[in-house]
Amino acid sequence: MEHYTPEILISDDEIAARIEALGNQITKDFENQEVVVICVLKGSYVFCADLIRKIQLPLRLEFVACSSYGESMSSSGNVHIDLDVTGSIENQNVIIVEDIVDTGLTIKTLLETFKLRRPKSLKLASLLYKPSRLKYSIDIDYLAFEIEDKFVIGYGLDYAGRYRELPYIGILNAGH
Ligand code: 5GP
Repeated sequence: MEHYTPEILISDDEIAARIEALGNQITKDFENQEVVVICVLKGSYVFCADLIRKIQLPLRLEFVACSSYGESMSSSGNVHIDLDVTGSIENQNVIIVEDIVDTGLTIKTLLETFKLRRPKSLKLASLLYKPSRLKYSIDIDYLAFEIEDKFVIGYGLDYAGRYRELPYIGILNAGH
């Protein structure tokens, strides 16, 4: 199989610097408190793994998985939670960690779902945000990068299950 090298949009050094800054901010904002970090599988697992190691707080890690995209490059319009968290989040400081806020549908669904479980606080951290595609009003509390409307891969983000292992964020060109 051919080894595809996409155009680099955000380098691994730039990613590391932003994640360190976000980790410091979260550490400051929740000083002397415990946080529950919810990693949204699969796309945010690399970001989340790096981010939690920059948060200097007592922390519990949970995972959720949802489906909406399948193997296409556009949203199917509804979100299903395929895997839920295993522990209670009631009265906890919760930070949802997402890979990318595109139309905002996925994160809107997750925020609504978790809000019903009465957390003490509910925040959103996202690696990427495409403002030109947003369809719902979403506040991102901890954002690493705002990007243009390009389909990106790498650093956990896939296309049809591939390219998650790339250490940088690249642009998927037509034809791949
Ligand atoms: P939304 O529900 O905000 O429209 O879409 C969010 C999900 O769509 C993300 O969690 C991600 O899985 C997928 N997605 C949106 N844009 C991109 C992109 O540019 N690249 C990749 N790999 N996935 C994307």
